[in-house]
Amino acid sequence: MPNSPSTTSTTATFSEFNLDHRLLKAIEKMGFTTPKPVQQQAIPLTLEHKDLLVSAETGSGKTVAYLLPALQQLLAVPAKPPRIQVLILCPTRELAQQIFQQSQQLCEFTALKTGLITGGSDFKKQQALLNNNTDIIIATPGRVLEHFQIENAYFQSLRLLILDEADRMLDMGFSDDVLAIVEQCNKQRQTLLFSATLRHFGVIKIADKMLKSPRVLSLNTIHDGHDNITQQLVLADDHDHKLKLLAWLLEHEPHEKALVFANTRLRAEELYNAVRGVGLRAGLLHGEIDQKDRNRTMFLLREGTINTLIATDLAARGLDIKGINLVINFDIPRNGIDYIHRIGRTGRADEQGTTIALVKHTEWNLMAGIERFLKQDFIRRTLKGLEGSYQGPKKLKSSGKAAGSKDKKEPAKKAVVKKVKVRERDRKNIGKRRTPTKAG
Ligand code: AMP
Repeated sequence: MPNSPSTTSTTATFSEFNLDHRLLKAIEKMGFTTPKPVQQQAIPLTLEHKDLLVSAETGSGKTVAYLLPALQQLLAVPAKPPRIQVLILCPTRELAQQIFQQSQQLCEFTALKTGLITGGSDFKKQQALLNNNTDIIIATPGRVLEHFQIENAYFQSLRLLILDEADRMLDMGFSDDVLAIVEQCNKQRQTLLFSATLRHFGVIKIADKMLKSPRVLSLNTIHDGHDNITQQLVLADDHDHKLKLLAWLLEHEPHEKALVFANTRLRAEELYNAVRGVGLRAGLLHGEIDQKDRNRTMFLLREGTINTLIATDLAARGLDIKGINLVINFDIPRNGIDYIHRIGRTGRADEQGTTIALVKHTEWNLMAGIERFLKQDFIRRTLKGLEGSYQGPKKLKSSGKAAGSKDKKEPAKKAVVKKVKVRERDRKNIGKRRTPTKAG
């Protein structure tokens, strides 16, 4: 696949991109003054009609990086019917809604129309959107295919196809769906593919199939340290101990909004009941909840009626909710990439955030593997009155390090943590799916 080094543009304002004044007005209203690095690089290339393969995380400003030049192209050369000119595919309904909102904000001073096509919403209304003068469609793949059963010619005049969170879409098993949709899109279109990582075999394979001589932009800061997120871990003896730690943290740890991750739907429901049982204002989000309830929960969290969300990894990608400054991993995620996405729900747009992992002895190796993957040592912490007997692996315990401190946040000693054999991780944990030792 053709590759190109990322450009090092130093664009200081959005007006330097020669954008339509209506878009600049919207950008100003949204409060954005300086383009983010992904915007500096992707906007000019998209305006030059190049295909792009971009590695950029959520939180980097990538949505505006593709929406803004897409809208600019539509304003520069107005569309003739049938009007669907831009299709944006993404993995989850929540992410689609978020992109939809940003598109509507950017379109505020134009006549451009954005439509949302996701599962769990009225099919007939969506048919009307697909048939009547909608310029930009934001969709999840499954629902688009359902519409294809009735009619599949919607995207034959498409000018721009954008795949957002492509790695996640493939991990969720949407590969065939995406390819089936692309098959029905105008072959002369421009294509942009955004992924959190380019170290994903499926992404490279699909990029080879659908991008023409793409420019590759590597903006991923996945190993850059997340300087604005304080990463802590608290050791727990067992599940019950974790429940007590969770309740304490939600009640006493200073925060505006908290996000608690569980590895399974059942666990999420259990935590939700436990948290509600101690009188906290919490919501629950997982894939089996009815879409109306999911929307309502997100609305209540955004506007602050509830300030705790218990969720599965459904909430790990792309969600951008103001005020989340505490992320608790009740269960340790299964690999480093998932961990990064979970903690990325805080510390967004340069705000400060704290993330706390509750670690049982059975999760120690997984957690240590994630630390090595990130090349970071998390701060070991104990909560006064809730100290357990588990102190980590023997080697750490005998070193007399941070684990013994009471309700203190002390940095773990790098050298000691590094001694927790790399070989153990290599046998078991995150190294299975990816190649973290090469990832740095
Ligand atoms: P995203 O990576 O698209 O999820 O964006 C992350 C957050 O950055 C969102 O809240 C955006 O509204 C915000 N954002 C996008 N572009 C800018 C910008 N140029 N300046 C400040 N914030 C931005």
